[in-house]
Formats: sequence, structure tokens, C-alpha cells
Amino acid sequence: MTTEPEECAVKWCNETGEHSVHRLYLTSLCAWRGSWLLGVNTVQANHDTPHVELTASTKQGRPAIVPLDPAEAKTVGRALIEAASRATR
Ligand SMILES: [Zn+2]
Repeated sequence: MTTEPEECAVKWCNETGEHSVHRLYLTSLCAWRGSWLLGVNTVQANHDTPHVELTASTKQGRPAIVPLDPAEAKTVGRALIEAASRATR
């Protein structure tokens, strides 16, 4: 007999079971010739307001976790799109 993992009351949350930090995993990708693992998540701890979490790790190193407020994340996102379009011109 199997039991379904307990779903979180926060609708957008991907976490199951006991957790104090709600997290939506939006993307996780191997970047730059497979040397980096990048992730983008929406995170909400307890009754705090939601924020964005950018994670970057190499195969050997500890992950760097950069918390961003929504406006900061949008600025970074716009800059990434601008940089990418310049790089492909
Ligand atoms: Zn949750």
C-alpha cells in the first residue's frame, strides 16, 4: 500500500511533507558546458512575503544562494534577456 505525499496548503508550493519554507522550482539547468547548475525558485518562509531565489553551484563547490526581491529579480531577468540578445547578434 502506498500513501500519497501530503500536499501543501500553499497552492503554488512544490514541497511535500513537513516543511517550513514553501518553494516553487521554476527552472534548474546545467549551464556553461555542463559546469554550472543554476536554479530559479519562488520562496516563502512562514509568514514572510514571497521572494525569488537564484542558486548557482559547480559540481565541487557549495551552492551560492542569492535571495532577490521581486523588483530585483525583474531587473536581473531583463538584463539577462538584453545580454543574451546582444550576444547572439
Ligand atoms: Zn509549502
